Amino acid sequence: MSEPIKKVVIVGGGTAGWMTAASLARYADGKELNITLIESSTIGTVGVGEATIPNIVDFNRNLGIDEVELIKATQASFKLGIQFENWANIDSQFFHPFSDYGVKINNIDFHHYINKLKNSGKDVDIQDYCFPAALANHGKFAQPHPNPSTPLADYQYAYHFDAGLYANFLADFSLKLGVRRIDAFVKQVNKDDNNGFIKSVTLDNGEIIEGDLFIDCSGFKGLLIEEALETGYEDWSHWLICDKALAVQTELSGEPTPYTRSIAKANGWQWRIPLQHRMGNGYIYSSKFESDEAAEQVLLSSIEGKPINKVRRFSFKAGRRKQVWNKNCVAVGLSSGFLEPLESTSISLIQSVISKLLNFFPDKSFNQFDIDEVNRLHNSEVEHVRDFLILHYKLSQRTDSIFWQHCQAMEVPETLHHKMNLFESRGHIIERENESFEPASWLTMYNAFGVTPKRYDSRVDNMPLDVIEKNLQQMKQSIEQAALQANSHQVFIDQHCKAQADI
Ligand SMILES: Cc1cc2nc3c(=O)[nH]c(=O)nc-3n(C[C@H](O)[C@H](O)[C@H](O)COP(=O)(O)OP(=O)(O)OC[C@H]3O[C@@H](n4cnc5c(N)ncnc54)[C@H](O)[C@@H]3O)c2cc1C
Repeated sequence: MSEPIKKVVIVGGGTAGWMTAASLARYADGKELNITLIESSTIGTVGVGEATIPNIVDFNRNLGIDEVELIKATQASFKLGIQFENWANIDSQFFHPFSDYGVKINNIDFHHYINKLKNSGKDVDIQDYCFPAALANHGKFAQPHPNPSTPLADYQYAYHFDAGLYANFLADFSLKLGVRRIDAFVKQVNKDDNNGFIKSVTLDNGEIIEGDLFIDCSGFKGLLIEEALETGYEDWSHWLICDKALAVQTELSGEPTPYTRSIAKANGWQWRIPLQHRMGNGYIYSSKFESDEAAEQVLLSSIEGKPINKVRRFSFKAGRRKQVWNKNCVAVGLSSGFLEPLESTSISLIQSVISKLLNFFPDKSFNQFDIDEVNRLHNSEVEHVRDFLILHYKLSQRTDSIFWQHCQAMEVPETLHHKMNLFESRGHIIERENESFEPASWLTMYNAFGVTPKRYDSRVDNMPLDVIEKNLQQMKQSIEQAALQANSHQVFIDQHCKAQADI
């Protein structure tokens, strides 16, 4: 049997670095495994990844972190989904919840009943059959009902949190579990001449840190995975054409919404992420269609509340590293690639790589079959996320700028094309292995962008139209009533997890 890994070196102490350190420290429990994290306080972190999706709740829970303690420490608020404004058309709006719609009737998916009603000329909106959408509409928040058989239980939530505070929280957690932290600049990556594996890194203070396994959490540049190992990057910027971002924090004006806002503009889109103590704002745009100066104007003219810091600028290229695991190096976070934060997927992909690393944790033989499998799983997962993001741009009916006209005219990946065709034909939603977004999310997009299937499941015809209508009416009323009875998001926070104002 091959020797176990004894030394893991993580380069980078942003969200990715500390999420990895915390997870490995938990994994190491009782094993002889030294974990060292190197970060350079002179470089700093990206630190704007503040909207999450629901698997973050499980991530923290699996680490054994108390939810209320975490929310207070990171000034977090709750997120029931994303409100998309001006995406389908100017002045249009829809909500992408972390939940399904309605309930199956006679074991047939709910949306077929909606399609039947629509095809019969009835005015129905699938969003009326979704409890978190109703909560969000009224600015309310409730945790899922403990009885799983009600639609009031069939949803999830995520958080908006301060990324810097989250990294600090996980750093404290990891250091207590024995992770060693070094604040220094990695100036050289040293490879084994025989097999090209990474042997060590040299720091600016002259120290050499050796390792068996290296985790690259160094951000966009990919210090280990790309600069040292030359793994290669697959460029998807012809499909996801936004390549720049601006971010600025403002004082909160009003209560935090229990959702992220994504507001489409002429050449990109703006985000608003409310925390307990401030608002995170940003603007993602395409440099082909807008200058940096014009973009800054777009952002600053549409924020609410006083700015509390300077505008930060980011450049990126949509795509992914060709292999997330190459030799004895695994890339986690921005070093593994980047897809714009339209659906808040980056942190979730960090979790996903960590989970694969733990499932396939190597020994010193670094079995190539294991490495290939992790790369295969990761690549397919990122491709599905890519397709879901492209869908937002492709289906928009906005024609007010060349940017939107370009998006509508572009060819989409074959995988997405196939998926869209099947839905249009008969309302069928393909679920592929490793999909981050469930059928309900795809349904949200098709519905919001006006794609109605030509046919529906014919078994729906076994139920008379008036009976379907009556059932749906009752469902809609009970969802609305339950939403009205819930506490406002602010009251829920005040009662359960209010953070100190001055963190
Ligand atoms: C505009 C924008 C908005 C985003 N919004 C979201 C969102 O809403 N939701 C979401 O899930 N994700 C979002 N993301 C992505 C999210 O920010 C990242 O996934 C997350 O912050 C992880 O970054 P990271 O830790 O990989 O890299 P970074 O934060 O860049 O950290 C890199 C680390 O490497 C260290 N380092 C680099 N070079 C060296 C060196 N030579 N020596 C020593 N240390 C070094 C740095 O000191 C730092 O600690 C967004 C990203 C951008 C750009």
